[in-house]
Amino acid sequence: MEAFAVEGLPEIREGDDLAALVADAVEFAEGDVLCIASTVVSKAEGRKADLADFEASDRAEAIADRIEAITGDEKDPRFAQAVLDESEELLTESPFLLAVTHFGHITVNAGIDRSNVPGADLLLLPEDPSESARRLSEELGVPVIVTDTSGRPFRYGQRGVAVGWHGIPASRDWRGEADRDGRELGVTVQAVVDELAATANLVAGEGGGGTPAVVIRDWEFGDHDGSQNLFRTEEDDIVREALRDWSFEE
Ligand code: GDP
Ligand code: MN
Ligand code: MN
Repeated sequence: MEAFAVEGLPEIREGDDLAALVADAVEFAEGDVLCIASTVVSKAEGRKADLADFEASDRAEAIADRIEAITGDEKDPRFAQAVLDESEELLTESPFLLAVTHFGHITVNAGIDRSNVPGADLLLLPEDPSESARRLSEELGVPVIVTDTSGRPFRYGQRGVAVGWHGIPASRDWRGEADRDGRELGVTVQAVVDELAATANLVAGEGGGGTPAVVIRDWEFGDHDGSQNLFRTEEDDIVREALRDWSFEE
């Protein structure tokens, strides 16, 4: 398998035809998968925003005050409002905002970015990244994964995850297949879109590199069952359940 960045993409602006820009810069081969950073999908979809666009509610003010009291860092209540607007639910309000986005992804600050956003304060995630992936995929004729850099519980550091995908199952089901001893695998469902997103993120880089699109070549899903499930449902998520009842104590 090979993973390489699409070189030469410009700074993406609202209304840009991202599929056309990618198609001009790379020739796809049979079996390729395109991973593309949510940052540029958001820019093309006009998801830049300014703090002044958000009027802080009482709840946003209270959240900002509490975080400020705990961390000592000044927190803009309008930023808290932006996160509230982008979320179905906050699982934690302090010392940071852990949000369930409207499309089901759970991440700090609802994935709102403050870097790589020239000319604006904020960049919101695409409204429906799988729908964005579908449009790109249909125009380009390859499966598409929309990625974001995200933290994870239990471990330091961030890595790429899939926030939307089209043309590829989210995971590959190894259950019922044999290990090296012939023992049947009982639980392994491999979240391949996340693994490809992490691979792509490694190639795309995090700073000013300017390579938000990565082609995965010669990787095969293989002969396995697939599943489209990636975001746990509420009933199936004991950590989400536990966090609802948790609150930060100084
Ligand atoms: P995120 O992981 O989706 O939040 O995106 P990042 O901000 O980490 O950016 C991923 C990669 O895309 C980095 O290499 C950035 O330099 C690059 N990038 C971000 N915005 C643009 C853009 O508008 N044009 C180009 N060519 N690259 C960009
Ligand atoms: Mn991001
Ligand atoms: Mn990133």
